[in-house]
Amino acid sequence: MANCEGMTESEWLRCTDLEPMLELLRGKVSERKLRLFSVACCRNIWHLLSNALDRKAVELAEQFADGLVSREELARATAYGAITYDWPDRNWAGRAARATAKPTALAREVAECAAWARALDGPSWEQLVRVAEVGASEHAPLLKEISGNPFRPMPPRPEEVAPLAIDIYAGKWELMPKLGEWLLEHGYREAGEHCLDRNIQHVKGCWVVDWILGKE
Ligand SMILES: [Zn+2]
Repeated sequence: MANCEGMTESEWLRCTDLEPMLELLRGKVSERKLRLFSVACCRNIWHLLSNALDRKAVELAEQFADGLVSREELARATAYGAITYDWPDRNWAGRAARATAKPTALAREVAECAAWARALDGPSWEQLVRVAEVGASEHAPLLKEISGNPFRPMPPRPEEVAPLAIDIYAGKWELMPKLGEWLLEHGYREAGEHCLDRNIQHVKGCWVVDWILGKE
């Protein structure tokens, strides 16, 4: 287990290992953020979610994170979906395994991410660590995209640009550069550069959009 007490800001910025990052964020990020992170992981492996019900379950988990569907609706999706909350589910993991050349780790990762996204009681830290264990280094940037920099407290949010952020949150991600330029012009350098960075994959839960909308 990494010693997170000793992690510095520059270590955080360089870090690509999910486990110490998650440990650092423990107790500092909301259940919504964690759920959206797992949804983003699922969307990264969308091609492996071959069953329409599985995809629907992830979509519902995303909506549940924002309070748009009820716990009951999410529970129904869990019941109908081919995957179950309990790992391992052989049918589903087997399907994922057949879809990839690296069956065990990836199938496990897929199942973990999906189970985690749909966990009715919120993702558990044991699940988080298991996702980290499979070496999903491509998920580390997604976690940073959602958590932001835990070493930097955010300034008061610029509410005047909220209408643009609402559009982006609704799916118009092509407006991110416009938001970035506005933020840079108004002195929000870090947030503006985040929006303008072409290497960042922005997802629901993006720390800049959440900050402007007052979402935690
Ligand atoms: Zn972002």
